[in-house]
Amino acid sequence: MGNERKICDYNILNVTGHEKPVEFLKNSFHRGRMPSGLLFHGRHNIGKRFVATAFAASVLCEDYALYERRSDAAFSSSDDHADAVGGGLNFCGKCPSCIGVLNGTSQNLMLVEPSGSSIKIDNIHKIGSFLSLTPYYQGYRFIIIDEASTMTTAAANALLKMLEEPSAKTVFILIVHNLSILLPTVISRCLLLKFGPVGDKVLMDAFRSEFPDMKEDVLRLYSKIAMGSYSDFYGLIRGDYLEKRNLLIDTVFKELAYSRSSINPYDMSNNFLSGVGKGGENGKKAANFEMILFILRDVYIYYMTKSVKLLYNEDIAEEIREIAEGLENFGVTRKDLVYMINLTVNHMEKMKSYNLNKTIALDSYFSGLLYLKGRV
Ligand SMILES: [Zn+2]
Repeated sequence: MGNERKICDYNILNVTGHEKPVEFLKNSFHRGRMPSGLLFHGRHNIGKRFVATAFAASVLCEDYALYERRSDAAFSSSDDHADAVGGGLNFCGKCPSCIGVLNGTSQNLMLVEPSGSSIKIDNIHKIGSFLSLTPYYQGYRFIIIDEASTMTTAAANALLKMLEEPSAKTVFILIVHNLSILLPTVISRCLLLKFGPVGDKVLMDAFRSEFPDMKEDVLRLYSKIAMGSYSDFYGLIRGDYLEKRNLLIDTVFKELAYSRSSINPYDMSNNFLSGVGKGGENGKKAANFEMILFILRDVYIYYMTKSVKLLYNEDIAEEIREIAEGLENFGVTRKDLVYMINLTVNHMEKMKSYNLNKTIALDSYFSGLLYLKGRV
C-alpha cells in the first residue's frame, strides 16, 4: 500500500475510530439522504476535521465515488462501493479529485478557518463565490468550517441564510469543540454528530504501522498522554517528547532526588528554559509541565506501590524508581509528593494568565519544589 493518502501531517491510511459518526455519514450518503448542514462536535484535536476531509475525499474520489456517472439503478444497498469502502472512509489519494482535496485546490471542497481570531463575514461571502463556480463532474460540494464557534454574529447570520436555503448537493460541515458558544439558530439548522476520543488501542495500531521502529512502551506512553487524539499523539513524536522528558529528568528530578548540591531555583529555571523549554510552539508552553506532572504521577505511584507495573513512563522505569527512592531517602513523604503535584497543577493554571511574568512564576515554582529539599 502506498502512503499517498495524506490529509494531515501524518499519513493514516484509513480513518479508524469514530465508527459511529463515520457509519452515519456513509449510510446517509448511500441512501441519498445527505443532510445539507452537519455539525461535528467534540473536544479539541480528536479528528473531526480529519473525518470531514476524509469523508469529502471518499465521496469525491473518482476511483470509488462513481455515483454521479452511474445510473440510479446501480445504487442498491448491496452496491460494491460499500464493500470497497469497508469499515472506513477510503479514497485513492491519486486521482485528480483526491489530489485537489489533499492540496486544497479542489473545486468541490472549500475549507473555511478563522482569519486571525475569528471567522468574519468576508470569509462567509467567499463561500457564496465558491458556490457560484461549476463543480467538477457536477458532483457534491463540501464546505468545511473549522472552529465555527469563532464566527462573528454577522458571519453566523450570513451563514444561517445559506443553511436556510441549501443548494442541491451542497454539504456544510461545521466543526466546533464547544457547542455552547455557537448561535442556537445555527445549531438548529444542522444535524449534530458527536465525536469522542479515539481508543488507546486504535491510536497505537495506527501509529505502529506508521512508525514501525517505535517501541511498544513508548507507544503506550504516547497513547496515554494523547488521550484519544491523533494530532496530539503526532505532536508528541514531532516535538521530541522523549528527549525533552529525559532532559527534565536530568536537570530537575535528579537534582531533587539525589544531588546533595544546593542548586538554586534560578539556575533550575534557566536549565529548564535552555533545555526543555526551548523548541518553538511546543516549547515554553504548559506541555512541559504536563511532562513534569506525568513524571510526578509515576514517582508517586512507585512511592506508594513499590512497583513499576502501573507507570506511564515505562521506558524509564528504572529512573523513576531511583527518583522515588532518592526522595524517600531525603525524607520526602507521601504528603510532600501530593504537594508537588498540586504545586505543578496550580502553576499550569497560572501560566494561562496573560499578564503574568512567566520568568518570576517559573522561579517561584522551582523554589516551591526545592523548598522540600531544603527543609530536610
Ligand atoms: Zn481518488
